[in-house]
Amino acid sequence: MTPPLIAILSGFSEMPDNGPPAYALRRNYVEAIAAAGGAPLIIPPLADERLLMALYERADALLLSGGEDIEPARYGAPPHAALQQVNPARDAAEFFLVRRALEEGKPLLGICRGIQVLNVACGGTLYQDIPTLLPSSIDHNASKQHPGWSLLAHDLHLEPDALLAELLGTERIATNSLHHQAVKDIGAGLRVVGRAPDGIIEALEGTGSSFVLGVQCHPELLRAELEPRWQAVFDALVRTTREVEETKR
Ligand code: MN
Repeated sequence: MTPPLIAILSGFSEMPDNGPPAYALRRNYVEAIAAAGGAPLIIPPLADERLLMALYERADALLLSGGEDIEPARYGAPPHAALQQVNPARDAAEFFLVRRALEEGKPLLGICRGIQVLNVACGGTLYQDIPTLLPSSIDHNASKQHPGWSLLAHDLHLEPDALLAELLGTERIATNSLHHQAVKDIGAGLRVVGRAPDGIIEALEGTGSSFVLGVQCHPELLRAELEPRWQAVFDALVRTTREVEETKR
């Protein structure tokens, strides 16, 4: 059968060559979806909602990629001094599409910034800076110092009855860690299914019947070599999307 179309939201990129501006998406996301048998459809964060919708409607599922901090006004907070780069245009496109996907039950996977977008879109909040607000013995940006950002920085402890634990076949798995923000209050319709050893929330699932999963780590950087079990989240997204599409026929 035709491979399902998995929309991956791209970001903006500053190019070092003084040329015209670019959209950007790291290749690992595309490779992970392709390895799962999905057709990756890269969607730029357009300002025109009609055009965004035209792309979204052709897609069978949504994958939110990593990136900048979310504008704190999105969750009713003033900006903290340690807030890093934000991108209101990208926020606007992603929140628009995520809310649509949640309403319609379109399968949704959020990675890194993506779990944060998912949580805030559901009414949740974030810690704007882990080092200043949540002192921990774990360096949650440790993987950034290593080539390919693939250092296994800390474990992830999973709820035994969670879909994520079932997919990975374990309740404890090593992850990379490249984030200075974290989920704080949980949005409506979500539950915590994974935490770092210091208690920081690093995995969320939807409580409804549709596929809604968010992970703070970057499984797309681990699946090929360091921790192949992480491919299971991409396989599950593509498999579930295919099943949803088959029931529509
Ligand atoms: Mn972490």
